[in-house]
Amino acid sequence: MKTNLLDFNLDQLTQHFAAMGEKPFRAKQVMRWMHQMAQSDFDAMTDIAKSLRAKLHETAEVRVPALMMGQESGDGTRKWLLDVGTGNGVETVFIPENERGTLCVSSQVGCALECTFCSTGRQGFNRNLSTAEIIGQLWWANKALGVTPKEERVVSNVVMMGMGEPLANYDNVVSALNIMLDDHAYGLSRRRVTVSTSGLVPQMDRLREDCPVALAVSLHAPNDALRDVIVPINKKYPLKELMAACQRYLERAPRDFVTFEYVMLDGINDRPEHARQLIELVRDVPCKFNLIPFNPFPNSGYGRSSNNAIHIFRELLQEAGLVVTVRKTRGDDIDAACGQLAGQVQDKTRRQAKWTQIIEEGKQ
Ligand code: SAH
Ligand code: SF4
Repeated sequence: MKTNLLDFNLDQLTQHFAAMGEKPFRAKQVMRWMHQMAQSDFDAMTDIAKSLRAKLHETAEVRVPALMMGQESGDGTRKWLLDVGTGNGVETVFIPENERGTLCVSSQVGCALECTFCSTGRQGFNRNLSTAEIIGQLWWANKALGVTPKEERVVSNVVMMGMGEPLANYDNVVSALNIMLDDHAYGLSRRRVTVSTSGLVPQMDRLREDCPVALAVSLHAPNDALRDVIVPINKKYPLKELMAACQRYLERAPRDFVTFEYVMLDGINDRPEHARQLIELVRDVPCKFNLIPFNPFPNSGYGRSSNNAIHIFRELLQEAGLVVTVRKTRGDDIDAACGQLAGQVQDKTRRQAKWTQIIEEGKQ
């Protein structure tokens, strides 16, 4: 099989070219063609010597995942479904705002972590995305949005908040992050690239050393008893360890705070006593809160907190001096809102069948 050059960050491509007897600047040129000009055809790379183009044709390719579907929401949000083989598809969402355009990128086909309120988690896990499949999402977005030169780029921010747990696919995600940050590729600053994790503590420590981008942590509960249920990875890395890992991360982070995401689930984690516990929990961690109104999906078993409950919760946190935003729901008419990304996942763990059975039994 031909080598997919989209799998390489600049260091890896330079090494690959060195093995072919090519100079390092060739790697930079090809990086720019692939990523800044969204070019996949070697023949269009006009400043590359013909002899090298011929060699590349024989041994390599720029293979982006095929586009299965594109949709646009009434509010300008766009969603693309990319074919990642054997009947699987992953979703990427572009959210335009006044000053910026944010791309929400997927890292896995499905997710193994079983958070109970998450549609991706409900589907089970199929496999990790390759570096090419992760960076291919940014490639497609730039291509589809009709931008190539750096100055005009519409995607100004990337959040790893699509399908999957990015830190469970560590190597490929870090390689893709490197490409996002590289001046010869997308040239995004570390502050504008965010990894969102449900709290894989050892990998948070590795990321701090390898590629410290902005960090978001999916907290969702203020105590271990509740978090054990709704974010089960908490049983492995409980809150005390998670808070300590956040503090360590901040020593290297490009921003001086961690963003805590908190999905507002009606009657589950949205009461004033939960807010009070949260204030205690994060006392020593410089942070901002992002409250996410729960986005329903079929048979979720959860409801969205009322606007009033969200308002009271927010006020309590703010009175304690915390900075809080409430995430606007965007793109829900095309199922592109947080936690609604389902893609097409052939579940290797057959988890969906298990859930369907549990839900059916509950109805009897
Ligand atoms: N696995 C990573 C990143 C993907 S999920 C993580 O868990 O952080 C991105 C965000 O969407 C997380 O904060 C997640 O908890 C949240 N989310 C998942 N399902 C949701 C839903 N149904 N409604 C609102 N937010 C949801
Ligand atoms: Fe996985 Fe994140 Fe969904 Fe949890 S919330 S199941 S970690 S994608």
